Amino acid sequence: MLLKSSKINEFRLWGLLLTVLGMGLMILGTAGIVFFGQSGKVFAAIGLVIGLISMLGSLGVYFWAGMLSTSAVQVECPECHKLTKMLGKTDRCMFCKTVLTLDPNKANITAEEVEAGQMVNHHAGHVHH
Ligand SMILES: [Zn+2]
Repeated sequence: MLLKSSKINEFRLWGLLLTVLGMGLMILGTAGIVFFGQSGKVFAAIGLVIGLISMLGSLGVYFWAGMLSTSAVQVECPECHKLTKMLGKTDRCMFCKTVLTLDPNKANITAEEVEAGQMVNHHAGHVHH
């Protein structure tokens, strides 16, 4: 993971970035026609195609995130006591970014050890299905 956030939130962020990128490219492509006239049309076409692919990609990411979140396990965060969703065995809390795990073997390791490449610190709270 690139960011210190829960996996579902990260998917949403990438979806948003792709949408913004796609829209930006389409706007730039259209602006190309305005500023460069006939020769700008090539750039406009490229911008529109890449922009469209990017937007479709973001749609896919959103769809994937939606699918994943339905299969995510809902747990009560032991730190902030809010209900958060986990993907896989380990994930971060959506609210306080605490690392959570469903694997008892990896529980109760400090955050520093997690940063050092180890896994996980807090044992996930009660599991709600
Ligand atoms: Zn939390």
